[in-house]
Amino acid sequence: PSSIVWLRDDLRVADNPALLAAAERGAPVVVLYLLDEASPGLRPLGAASRWWLHHSLIALDASLAELGASLTLRRGAASEVLPALVREVGADAVFWNRRYSAARDVDAELKVSLREEGVAVCSFAASVLYEPWTLTTGAGDPYKVFTPFWKAALASEEPRAPVAAPHALEGHAAESELLEDWELLPTRPDWAEGLRATWTPGEQGAHERLEHFVEDGLALYHRRDEPGIEATSRLSPHLRFGEISPHQIRDRVQEGISPEAARNLATFLSEVGWREFSVNILFHWPDLATVNFRREFDEFPWGRPDPGQLEAWQEGRTGIPIVDAGMRELWATGWMHNRVRMIVASFLTKNLLVDWRVGEEWFWDTLVDADPANNAASWQWVAGSGADAAPYFRVFNPLLQAEKFDPDQEYIRRWVPELDTEEYPDPIVDLKASRDEALAAYEAVKAAK
Ligand code: FAD
Repeated sequence: PSSIVWLRDDLRVADNPALLAAAERGAPVVVLYLLDEASPGLRPLGAASRWWLHHSLIALDASLAELGASLTLRRGAASEVLPALVREVGADAVFWNRRYSAARDVDAELKVSLREEGVAVCSFAASVLYEPWTLTTGAGDPYKVFTPFWKAALASEEPRAPVAAPHALEGHAAESELLEDWELLPTRPDWAEGLRATWTPGEQGAHERLEHFVEDGLALYHRRDEPGIEATSRLSPHLRFGEISPHQIRDRVQEGISPEAARNLATFLSEVGWREFSVNILFHWPDLATVNFRREFDEFPWGRPDPGQLEAWQEGRTGIPIVDAGMRELWATGWMHNRVRMIVASFLTKNLLVDWRVGEEWFWDTLVDADPANNAASWQWVAGSGADAAPYFRVFNPLLQAEKFDPDQEYIRRWVPELDTEEYPDPIVDLKASRDEALAAYEAVKAAK
């Protein structure tokens, strides 16, 4: 007998219940990563995520080698590739950690078909502290509002402690495709220089990031809204690819932190809670990236995006400094500060009147942390169509936001050095007039309610 561990959004060896269970079973193990761009309903990764994945897989393969195994790479529709691999290596058990996006339909079908062939399928909870079906309102419905959701989470059973990495794995040889053949990295042009300079994908990089945050960032976390300082963890891409688990993060911050850091602990954990909330929403509304959560927004008269304005937004040439700084940070590093994400998203949807799905797609392609739950939920949240969203009529003024959160223009000047020169463009839109237009357009939603 042999086992297959199918890794997906859990590219780590520590606190990986599926990997540990397979190791403890004792049989030889094939560790599979499957690039699935063929299953219906699965969204292909964006370009920045592909870059991240490439490096994360190299790091994972090195960690597995230390344990005595290696990574088997295959490409294709999971419903074909996995059963074929099972037959090829004579596996009688398959292990994986559960997913909560639409991809879970793929998993559910495989579970049935593999079991019909006499193959054991064992799935585990690994990527969230609270699986979506474990937290429901008194009436048994999913939570749609964050505060009661998180309150219920904190009052429920404590999440498990992280589990250790396997001591050793008996690797089972299976032929692997070559990572280079997947062409996940950009070539012409190579736009990844800023990404390479900013990030260390992989499990070790994730834990270094966490240690750095615990030592320097957490004590500053009450200033997390200021993009000019490094007060947040920047763990989001590591979490997205499962190089670190929320269990490990939660466990690490519970002890050995300074009193200044301890003051910010509950706030930090509640932000991790927003990730749990997004997963909960996505689980119950699987088409969250394309369909308005609040269906009355189907009536919203989004303008047709003006190609010139949309490009100016994407390239950071809108003439609104905080918006341009954010969009350039995104393009250069694959990441953007949360406060600035809210500002640029508000500007796109409310000042340019562009459908939130257009922005969601741009982020999907350019963010290294592009996440099916967080990206869709956050865009809808800003647009007003989402769960627990800010009321639509609360339109951010990006100039006032910048004054408040970047008072010394530290952030703006880092990304927009030509600010005071002739070169810097005038605003592409009148903030006041466009705000009034947005509010008028919102009447259609109110009427549909
Ligand atoms: P920290 O403040 O250190 O928080 C720790 C972790 O908690 C984060 O890594 C993240 O996993 C989670 N978290 C923090 N804030 C939020 C939040 N508001 N919503 C959900 N989870 C949160 N986050 C993504 O991970 N992927 C996305 O694709 C994504 N798209 C977004 C799009 C828009 C328009 C907006 C407004 C926000 C989006 N976010 C997304 C949420 C948030 O901006 C990032 O999670 C956060 O900026 C990551 O930085 P950090 O790791 O330093 O966060």
